[in-house]
Amino acid sequence: MYAGAKAAFYALSRSVTLKRLASKYGMRSRDSFARRFIAGETVEEAIEVSRDVQSQGLHLTLDYLGESVRTSEEAQAATREYVHLLDAIVASGIERNISLKLTQLGAGVDRATCVDNLRRILEPAGRHGFFVRIDMENSPWTQLTLDIFETLWQQEYRNIGIALQAALYRTEQDMRRMNQIGARVRLVKGAYKEPESVAYQKKSDVDQSFLRLMKVLLDSGVYPAVATHDPLMIAATRTYAAERGLASDRFEFQMLYGIRRDLQASLVAEGYTMRLYIPFGREWFPYFMRRLGERPANLGFVVRGILLEK
Ligand SMILES: Cc1cc2nc3c(=O)[nH]c(=O)nc-3n(C[C@H](O)[C@H](O)[C@H](O)COP(=O)(O)OP(=O)(O)OC[C@H]3O[C@@H](n4cnc5c(N)ncnc54)[C@H](O)[C@@H]3O)c2cc1C
Repeated sequence: MYAGAKAAFYALSRSVTLKRLASKYGMRSRDSFARRFIAGETVEEAIEVSRDVQSQGLHLTLDYLGESVRTSEEAQAATREYVHLLDAIVASGIERNISLKLTQLGAGVDRATCVDNLRRILEPAGRHGFFVRIDMENSPWTQLTLDIFETLWQQEYRNIGIALQAALYRTEQDMRRMNQIGARVRLVKGAYKEPESVAYQKKSDVDQSFLRLMKVLLDSGVYPAVATHDPLMIAATRTYAAERGLASDRFEFQMLYGIRRDLQASLVAEGYTMRLYIPFGREWFPYFMRRLGERPANLGFVVRGILLEK
């Protein structure tokens, strides 16, 4: 079921008809269904949502949606959008924290293009005190993402961190390496449909892996980020942090905008740091479909949304 649902939604996400319908109705008005997970299509909308999020005592990271660009022109355009985002964040006074994907910056075009574009973002980001998290994409990109990350780390760009996925067999080794160099890690379960040759297929195995990795991260990581909505993973993290005497300001929880707001609020009320990942931009369809794949019941509100808007 776990791998099956992801596979089905992966197939759906390639459906042209669905994309046309969703794109037409998903963000049309303030109540449209895609707005449950996406802050809007413009920087201004994202900043407005961010202000609201901050007023509730939550931290944030902003993600300008986009991935898998095919040409260096597209990668450069995305890079310019990110630089513009940095300026807008500085002008707005909200927290200076962004997340980005390397295939958006041209990892699929060629490595040098991607490194150049990333540097063009990290330079102003460093000057303005931003933290920049590199998201982890599907497994064909894992090694390249880590290589580019380390290249920039060795060039003294230290305002960066990485995401690692519990679903992949290789992650413990990658995590130990990141802990060793002192890079900040965001631990996630993994959002992509992956082959059995590289990743656990059963939810219970991914969960076991997450719990193991959470301990490695809390033991030897630098300001760990535990990113999940799963109450069992969160409870285990709290228990382990308490056992190890790790104060609540030495690590953080992270969740996605629009998911488990109740749990976000209760963790903040208990004194934990909670950071929300806030995506925005016109290229929201693949991100949106991954969120549906994680919880097929979400499809109900999309169908209702399309029918109501029509
Ligand atoms: C801050 C953050 C950053 C992330 N960055 C990355 C990344 O860089 N690379 C990557 O591969 N993945 C990333 N992810 C996604 C992650 O890999 C998972 O796919 C996602 O978080 C769902 O897994 P879960 O840990 O919440 O556990 P699950 O077992 O999937 O879910 C636990 C519970 O959370 C709730 N829930 C989970 N998903 C949804 C949903 N879509 N809609 C409604 N309720 C839901 C449900 O109550 C569910 O029972 C990120 C997640 C977060 C929170």
